[in-house]
Amino acid sequence: MASDKWTLKLNTGKVAPAFGLGTWQSEKGLVGQAVDIAVRNGYRSIDCAWLYRNEDEIGATLETLFKEGVVKREDLFITSKLSGSHHNAEDVEECCRDTLKNLKLDYLDLYLVHSPSALKKEALFAFPNLTEDHKLGYDSDHMAKTWEAMESLVSKGLVKAIGISNFTITKTEKLLETAKIVPAVNQVECHPYFQQKKLKKYCDSKGIILEAYSPLGSPGRPQFVINPDDPVILEDHTMKQIAEKHGATVGQICISFLLHCGLMVIPKSTSEKRIKENIGACSITLSPEEIQTLEGIDKNFRIFSVLFLLPQGATEEQAWDISADEAYSI
Ligand code: NAP
Repeated sequence: MASDKWTLKLNTGKVAPAFGLGTWQSEKGLVGQAVDIAVRNGYRSIDCAWLYRNEDEIGATLETLFKEGVVKREDLFITSKLSGSHHNAEDVEECCRDTLKNLKLDYLDLYLVHSPSALKKEALFAFPNLTEDHKLGYDSDHMAKTWEAMESLVSKGLVKAIGISNFTITKTEKLLETAKIVPAVNQVECHPYFQQKKLKKYCDSKGIILEAYSPLGSPGRPQFVINPDDPVILEDHTMKQIAEKHGATVGQICISFLLHCGLMVIPKSTSEKRIKENIGACSITLSPEEIQTLEGIDKNFRIFSVLFLLPQGATEEQAWDISADEAYSI
């Protein structure tokens, strides 16, 4: 299977698939079928989250796939994420257990803190329509306690590995001051126009795998995240030329490039055609010259703001620790 070619060794010792299926905005009524098509076509990793509110349908599909003998539980790598509403240490296990119940699993392969910023518990069902009262923001001492509770999920056997998402270098450094378990993965926005080279180098230095979300530039993202001046990654001229040479699509070049950079990559699709197209990227081999060319198209263009999660007055500079990360020397 082509996707077998792309694996990464986690700091737990486990070898994990580098390629998988994203499920954010995969609607109920479609997401189960998407997971079914994906697994039957060679996907072995599925990225889920409590907040995507579709884990129950994914769970029903997984149950069928196991019953029919299409795959065994141990053949799959299932990730989910702790909602920001459950950062209080006493709430972490509840959120994890709810995900396990919905996915009909005994354990997760990877459980991520979805975001460094916390929300009040009642925000869970309001998300993404948050009021100011829901937002608690980021507090490093609070996060240290959340992480301790994440660590206890490992010792209880509920999860095999734990990690983080949307963490900057600065926030990861702070976490490592008290962490007993080094995060296995940091899942962040990463695509050819936002290559996160410094964060990747930093994560490499700590034994943390960088995982690329929105690898295609999230063309189906909600309207409120789209700015009319945003560059469209899938229309990039340089990638079109490379795609033509390989008889591939631009989407496949995005995925292949990130795999060649040593990242985990989780494109989302609910279309049978594109689910199959995306795994086809695992069969592409890019030349060193092509990789160098693709490295040159980075625009430091971040699509996602997290300000809607943060108390009023927060800035992108604070949210992403832009100056502090820039000043950090690896
Ligand atoms: P993405 O994977 O970059 O793009 C998905 C969009 O592209 C969908 O609208 C999909 O539509 C379309 N698409 C898929 N394959 C395509 C192809 N080959 N050519 C053209 N269009 C294609 O964006 P994403 O969903 O934002 O990110 C991927 C996954 O990362 C998410 O699903 C989620 O699991 C994870 N994520 C995590 C976070 C976090 O905070 N940790 C944030 C964002 C995303 P169809 O479904 O119609 O094919």
